[in-house]
Amino acid sequence: MENTSYDVIVVGGGNAALCAALSAREQGVSVLMLERASQDKRGGNSAFTGGSFRMVHHGLEDIKKVVPDLSAEEIAGTDFGEYTAEQYLDDLGRVTQYYIDPDLAEVLVRRSTDTVHWIRERGVRFLPYYGRYAFKHEGRFKFFGGVVAQAVGEGVGLVDSLFKAADKQGIKIRYETQATALLRGRSGIEGVHVIADGIEQEIRGRAVVLACGGFEANREWRTRYLGPGWDMAKVRGSRYNTGDGIRMALDIGAQPYGQWSGCHSVSWERYAPDFGDLSLRSNSYRHGYPFGIMVNAEGKRFVDEGADFRNFTYAKYGRIVLQQPASYAWQVFDSQVGHLLMKDEYRLRGVTKVQANTLEELVDRMQDVNRAQFLETVLEYNRAVNRDVPFDPNGKDGRCTVGLAINKSNWANPIDKPPFEAFAVGCGVTFTFGGLKIDTAAHVLDISDTPLPGLYAAGELVGLFYFNYPGSSGLMAGAVFGRIAGHQAATFARCRAVQQIDRSPR
Ligand SMILES: Cc1cc2nc3c(=O)[nH]c(=O)nc-3n(C[C@H](O)[C@H](O)[C@H](O)COP(=O)(O)OP(=O)(O)OC[C@H]3O[C@@H](n4cnc5c(N)ncnc54)[C@H](O)[C@@H]3O)c2cc1C
Repeated sequence: MENTSYDVIVVGGGNAALCAALSAREQGVSVLMLERASQDKRGGNSAFTGGSFRMVHHGLEDIKKVVPDLSAEEIAGTDFGEYTAEQYLDDLGRVTQYYIDPDLAEVLVRRSTDTVHWIRERGVRFLPYYGRYAFKHEGRFKFFGGVVAQAVGEGVGLVDSLFKAADKQGIKIRYETQATALLRGRSGIEGVHVIADGIEQEIRGRAVVLACGGFEANREWRTRYLGPGWDMAKVRGSRYNTGDGIRMALDIGAQPYGQWSGCHSVSWERYAPDFGDLSLRSNSYRHGYPFGIMVNAEGKRFVDEGADFRNFTYAKYGRIVLQQPASYAWQVFDSQVGHLLMKDEYRLRGVTKVQANTLEELVDRMQDVNRAQFLETVLEYNRAVNRDVPFDPNGKDGRCTVGLAINKSNWANPIDKPPFEAFAVGCGVTFTFGGLKIDTAAHVLDISDTPLPGLYAAGELVGLFYFNYPGSSGLMAGAVFGRIAGHQAATFARCRAVQQIDRSPR
């Protein structure tokens, strides 16, 4: 008969859940993972990622510990820079407008490097993330914006390696099993209620880790919490993150935390499917906007495309696209920057694109942009570019526009060398920011900031980010707090087991 009692139950099958499950199992306890998706669709949003991790490092020697097989050519041709704990903390503070919980931020930053090593020791291999985080400029790559490490095989490679480690460690995994409620007894959490094959079941556990994502795939909750119009956003990743873990915890008194009206959202292929599709993973990305301009249906620019490195702006610009008339925009480039647009974002089938040799023809092909205003916008923009400053795609070059209502702060090139290209974008939602409150030991807290005994959480369902997000801190936060949550849950379960033995009749 199947076991229906475990020391630790982990709800979810993405990066945070896998790190929690492995960390718990390493304490010698029995662990069950519940994944709502089928085995071939497992891995949540984590499987959709580029697999990049934002960690503290001090240059080549630290990178070699994560990527030991760097070639001599890569070493000679790359400046890895450094990313200090202070920079990481500054970035987290700055982009979240200093709302991020400082204690959680401190744990995320201070445990980042060690956790990447820990993941590596469990079978995940890493590469330097050339292309998205370092362009070849004047013969050399230079990493910018704080991210170097990418899991081999991207998100799918990451979760496959972690699932392999979980299998090896004897972690039991049940697919197509949706957790629906937490079981609570006199001494705290005692397990979960699930539905599998349409049948309800209780599974007993001495501790539970919730790591089952945010609510971005729940159209109704998006509209309710993010606001009108968000029902129309496309979901970039998994269809299974509908807020179940958050609801289950709130139902037993957990404290809602973080920015419930906020989310990570990006410029995304306008006609992308409603949910992510692992086979089409990156052809909906449109992250090249810092090198061009974005215009709305009225033919007007609406944002500083070059305000910062794209990994400090992309997560908040989806919302701004959604807020434009009819919720779309066009990204416009000329031939001077075409080589900087990533092939797997801009050069694949399924991309909504027009091309022309004149700006007049280009706007005619767009069909739904105000022609006269568009031509005026480009003319004004071209005139405003400060051509005295050299262009440098690897640094914030300060090549800006001057005198526009919305200036562009970096990477401003006139759009005047045909052929011209324009790409239609809408809003793609990545994950939601509102969730549960945890402490630095990943306990889920109630409204009095008291831990709910036996309940832990990690990953997207933790309220952590506000307004914006430094790219690649999602996987890092999930791994750091997942690892902590698993360890704490296992320790709690062991104590509870001892207490139960003490209380049993002799
Ligand atoms: C396209 C895309 C690219 C991204 N790229 C990056 C990147 O390169 N670097 C980075 O740091 N971040 C990236 N992110 C963000 C990143 O995906 C998340 O921060 C991270 O994966 C969250 O991990 P998680 O384990 O919390 O959630 P998920 O990986 O989404 O896992 C949640 C899991 O819970 C399961 N689940 C949901 N409800 C239930 C239930 N009721 N019962 C059982 N199981 C349930 C789901 O099936 C899923 O397996 C990207 C996101 C997307 C969508």
